[in-house]
Amino acid sequence: MTAARHTQVVIVGGGQSGLAAGYHLRRLGLDFVILDAQAEPGGAWQHAWDSLHLFSPAAYSSLPGRPMPVQAGDTYPDARHAVSYLTEYEHRYGLPVQRPVRVSGVHRDSGLLRVETDSGDWRAQAVISATGTWWRPFLPAVPGRSDFRGRQLHTVEYRNPLDFAGQRVVVVGGGNSGAQIAADLAYDTELTWVTQRPPRFLPDDVDGRALFDAATARRRALDEGRTDDGGVASLGDVVAVPPVREARDAGLLKASPMFVRLDRDGVVWADGTRTPADAVIWCTGFRPALSHLAPLGLRGPRGRIATAGTRAVDEPRLHLLGYGDWTGPASATLIGVGRPARDAAREIAGLLEA
Ligand code: FAD
Repeated sequence: MTAARHTQVVIVGGGQSGLAAGYHLRRLGLDFVILDAQAEPGGAWQHAWDSLHLFSPAAYSSLPGRPMPVQAGDTYPDARHAVSYLTEYEHRYGLPVQRPVRVSGVHRDSGLLRVETDSGDWRAQAVISATGTWWRPFLPAVPGRSDFRGRQLHTVEYRNPLDFAGQRVVVVGGGNSGAQIAADLAYDTELTWVTQRPPRFLPDDVDGRALFDAATARRRALDEGRTDDGGVASLGDVVAVPPVREARDAGLLKASPMFVRLDRDGVVWADGTRTPADAVIWCTGFRPALSHLAPLGLRGPRGRIATAGTRAVDEPRLHLLGYGDWTGPASATLIGVGRPARDAAREIAGLLEA
């Protein structure tokens, strides 16, 4: 057995969150390694569907230190542009990413944390977990799901409308993924878009910039011990990026309330009527990919790990980054992860000094 390698900090995950953490650890002069399961840079963006566009302009999609360049001809960059940006980012800062390396477990071991991987172990004084959510798609428990004989897939498996041309497709989900995929399919398929509540489109002049400003206001309110009203985020769920706006304005994005069950041939509505379908696409969200942290025994009710900022309350050597608002307001976005990444790096530097 090869001896475990040693470093001060292991970052698990080399997507945008892991890179932002690396940027700040580097600035503080700490020794670290980033372990990433993907063969190539870019995290989840590499796997996005072909027409995915960010919901913020490039200037509002930047990691610390290096603004995202504008994509020629597009106000809202596409996923390929995000991958190029992240690739360039990790090269520019010489971030020590090792891939493909999958972390299977993080263990307490003789006063350190031992990070077990498919290419040997690492021992570290602190760990930043930045594994994202894309790898844990969520499917709701809907009666009859296993009876349906057509094709079922989640957002993570959707690529483009060509696969579904002329088919009867049911898209489930009223968030940005559901709206964008429904818009993608609206022209060439017989589309049924299903949402739990009527879709709430944000005003056309509101995009990720305003959402980020709202998250900043929320963070400030929390810092000052106040509550806030949710700001612009309370106005809606779906950013009307150009393809969504076009399909909506063409009258092609009409949503139906959730069906009650599936049967062999399609969906069954509350009044007992049926709509036959060839495919159901579940745009029903994600959960944090945290299985590698199971050996630490930190998971509380509903699978959550209690955090103060990014630090795990019951394991101060562990930080969680980029999983959503519970690990920092807007931390699951390109522009929003910078600040929690900086805070995590500073806390770890303080811990190592102590
Ligand atoms: P990821 O990009 O998922 O990176 C995590 C990395 O960790 C991956 O490379 C993964 O392979 C690796 N990993 C996972 N488990 C392990 C393990 N056990 N061992 C080693 N490595 C592991 N944000 C915006 O800012 N603007 C947008 O417009 C926007 N649009 C979005 C649209 C969609 C449909 C989705 C799903 C998200 C969108 N986001 C957007 C949110 C966010 O930017 C992404 O979810 C982002 O990919 C999260 O980055 P991350 O680094 O936290 O996770």
